[in-house]
Formats: sequence, structure tokens, C-alpha cells
Amino acid sequence: MLGNMMQDQLLISGVLEHAIKTHPQTEIVSHTIEGEVHRYTIEDSSKRAKKLANALKKLEIKEGDVLGTIALNGYRHYELYFGISGIGAVLHTLNPRLFPEQVEYIVNHAEDKYIFVDLPFLPIVENVYENIDVEGIILLCEKSQMPAETKIKNLICYEELIADESDEIDWPEFNENTASSLCYTSGTTGNPKGVLYSHRSTILHAWYACAANAMNISSTSVILPVVPMFHVNAWGIPYAAAMFGSKLVLPGPHTGGEAISKLVQSELVTNLMGVPTVWLDLLNFTRENNITLESVTSVLVGGSAAPRAMIKEFQEKHDAFLLHGWGMTEMSPLGTLNAFNSDMVNMDLEERYDLQTSQGKAIYGCQIKIVDDKGNTLPNDGKTFGRLMVKGPAIIERYYKGEETALENGWFDTGDVSTISKDGYMRIVDRSKDVIKTGGEWISSIDLENTAVGHPGIAEACVVGVLHPKWDERPLMFVVKNNLEECDKDSVLNYLSDKVAKWWLPDDIIFVDELPHGATGKLLKTGLREEYKNHLMN
Ligand code: ADP
Repeated sequence: MLGNMMQDQLLISGVLEHAIKTHPQTEIVSHTIEGEVHRYTIEDSSKRAKKLANALKKLEIKEGDVLGTIALNGYRHYELYFGISGIGAVLHTLNPRLFPEQVEYIVNHAEDKYIFVDLPFLPIVENVYENIDVEGIILLCEKSQMPAETKIKNLICYEELIADESDEIDWPEFNENTASSLCYTSGTTGNPKGVLYSHRSTILHAWYACAANAMNISSTSVILPVVPMFHVNAWGIPYAAAMFGSKLVLPGPHTGGEAISKLVQSELVTNLMGVPTVWLDLLNFTRENNITLESVTSVLVGGSAAPRAMIKEFQEKHDAFLLHGWGMTEMSPLGTLNAFNSDMVNMDLEERYDLQTSQGKAIYGCQIKIVDDKGNTLPNDGKTFGRLMVKGPAIIERYYKGEETALENGWFDTGDVSTISKDGYMRIVDRSKDVIKTGGEWISSIDLENTAVGHPGIAEACVVGVLHPKWDERPLMFVVKNNLEECDKDSVLNYLSDKVAKWWLPDDIIFVDELPHGATGKLLKTGLREEYKNHLMN
């Protein structure tokens, strides 16, 4: 028997309408590319999103048309999030750090009709212009900033495009499973693959990700997402902030430690969100300048593992709880979060920091389990390693234009290897391809890296498995020094010796000026593994 309740569709336009009615005066602050701070309210922003939606209709954009963006975290990008999806078109965010061949591939594969571009990124489009087929490029700038010369035929100014449009609209009603946005995975191997989110998946994800036991976002939160709006919808924050009336502080290109620290202090930011590398820089800056981030209560860290030293420093120097999360593009992205919970109330701080290095418990909306190579479910005993599988309403079923399902018996294989404890704490051990297989045992490269960065002379560490004549593979460590303390091979090995098992100690340590990072800030190990694969063979 079916229930008797309304069949109201979950649409992104509905999130915007809710925001206008419940918290119209909530601010959206942007540190612009030009350097000044732009400030307006949800009400102002909604009007401009509606002007955009009307302009898109004049450009004959229809439901299902895909519109690209190459833009940073700023108010115009925020307007695109709502204006484009609101009329049933698809917001396709592109990462400006991609190689030209990847941009070309993605624009053509997605069949972008127009691309909205932040002014500094125009060369990215010009570079591939001959090889893509778009109807026009819309520059996110004022008329006075439009370039005098360009090879692009139909170059439109965003401000001019929306200027004379009405700021009222009757949003179209459609099925909540309609596509709303599209994001390609970084594709460290092979071509990037598209993840096509729906209105329903986007709204459910933003809703459950904000619960008290998850990100704990409300109208008193002031959120500074350093996580880019060009990557997995900035972890759903733009929608969540509109749902719950949180103030947004968008940093644009100014994501260095000093700029973030200033923005936190001037806007009284409570919630920081981003990948660990950004916070390393912020912590360095605050340490060197003796600054305490008084207003910050929570720092959401995801994308790669949060080092214990970072968890401790945020707590002890800034009185901020490090909310360690895990997820991926295919999951919208949140899967697990290590929120402050009843297990921690009476816990000794050092013990709590240990626990916080785990990626936390599944949030409601995402089921997790670990399986062996044959797909058999493994025990949640906190020790057994297995392939981490997920299932839920905001998790991918198939890649964009993919013929086949991406699932294995109804579950998605994340490509991560993890343990799960009996009370549900999930701990990422490694990526399946990065785990070091030595003499039949597995070493987690991530654990070794995180332990190493606790050394006072180390800024960043990277561990890869390389061939070994006796043990198949052995760990090789690369280190970037921070020049604050003496740091050589012996001191690193000595530091690690009482923190990891003896057979985990790297066979060699190589000091480098910098480490390679991919377009989303993650360590790129493929090149290092290839270059050094015979390092221990001679
Ligand atoms: P994002 O960069 O937004 O997390 P990606 O899809 O680019 O999304 O990358 C997802 C992968 O990043 C995960 O499968 C996992 O390997 C890694 N990852 C994400 N969060 C963490 C974390 N907290 N600890 C360790 N690895 C993580």
C-alpha cells in the first residue's frame, strides 16, 4: 500500500525560494579576483540568479542542455549554481588546473553549449578553442573588463547578458531525477569520467550532510569553503548554506595562509572546509605570526587524510574541532564524517586525536561495507583490510554516457582500502593502487606519510611502493623539508622508529624541493612510482 502524502519534487529552485523567504538578509561575501571584497545578500543573489535564468531562456537554453563553468569560488559562480540548474539545464563545472587535452576532451564529451569563464581563465578556452564546438563563451566580468581582442567569435559579457532581464521567474517544475550538475573525476589514469548529479541526489546530500551529527551547519554558521566550487559542487556547501541560512565567505583565488587568516578574522568565520594542504599553509602562517583563529569552531578536512599533528594544533592553538571527512566525486561527495560524538565526551584528548585520524562513521544516507577480492563481506573488527563499498541515494549508478552500470551487486567500489571498527569507525588504509604489498603483508602509504609529517622538520611526505628483490615491494619515502628544524635521513628514521612497526620503515628517504600534486591538490604518485621503480633493485 502506498502512503498518501504529496509528491512534491526536490528541486534546486525550491532551495533558492526557501532561502529568499527564510533568510533573505544572510550575506554572501566574496574575495574577488580583482582583490576587493564583494558583499551582498541571498536576496540580491537570488534576483541575479533569476535574471540569469531569464537570459538563458533567451539564448534558447533548454532542459538538459549542458553549460560549462571555469570559475573559482565567487558570487557569480554561486548565481550560476542556481540559475542554470533552476531551469533544468546542467551546470558542468570544469577544473581550471586541468591540462588542455583534458579540457578539450571534457568539453566535447559533455557537449557544453556555452562556457562561463572567470576572466583570468580565458586563455584556457582560447587554447583549445579550435578543437571545441560551443555556441559562445560568457566572461564572468564587467563590460569594462572585456578584452579588446580575442579569437573567440561569440564572447559575451556576463553583466551585460543579465543586466536588462527581469529578476522574477516562475521556475519550471520537472521530475526531481532530472540532471542538475556534472563533474568529471580527475582521471589520473585514462580519460576523465563524468558524474551526473540529479536535483534529488544534490538536495538529499546537502540535507543529510548538514545534520548535527555530520557538518552541523545552521543559520549561525559562517562558512568559508576553500574546497573549490569547480569540484564536486564544493562538497554541496552552496546548496546547504542556502537551505539553512549560513553566511558564505568565498575566497576566490586568495587561498594562501595569510589571505585566509585575514578573511577569517574580518568575517568571523566559524566553519572552514577544505583539503589538508590548504590548512598546512594556514597553520604555518598563524604559527609564524602568533595568530589565534578565535572565531573558528570547526575545520572540515577531506580529500586526503588529516594528519594527527594538524588535528592537535587546531584543537590546542585555535580551540577548533577538526571534522575529518571522507568521500569522492562519485558520492556527491560525502560518505563518512568523524563528528564530535558521545564516544568522545569523556575521552582523554590524546586518545581522541588518535580516534580523529579515522575518517569517521557513515553519515545517514551512505551505507558502507568492506569486502574481499571475491566480494565476500569482511568483519567490522577495526583490523581487517578490505575494499570499501558504498550505497546510497547520492551515489553514482553509472558514469555519464556510460553504457554499463558502475556497480557490483548494487554497491559502488570506491577504490579505497579500509577497516571498519565494531562501532562503525572507518579508517582509510590506502587507495587500492597505492597500498604497499611487501612479503604478503600490506603497508599503508598514507599512515606512513601522516606519521612522518609529525617530524618538526618535515613539511610534506609521500610514500610509494617500489620493486624489491626479496619482498616484492618496499616503501620509498620522499620528503619536503620545512627548514624549521634539522632533518636528514637518520633523524626521520629515528623519529618513525617508535611510531610504526619496524618492517614499515622506508628503505630509503629522498629529499625533494616539492612533490607533484594533481588538479585537486592530491599527491600524484604514479610518476614517482614509475621513475623510482628500480631504485632498490641495484
Ligand atoms: P575529493 O578530492 O573531493 O575527495 P575525489 O573523487 O577527487 O574527491 O577523490 C576521492 C578520493 O580521495 C577517495 O577515494 C580517497 O582515496 C581520497 N580521500 C578523500 N578523503 C580522504 C580522507 N579523509 N582520507 C584519506 N583519503 C581520502
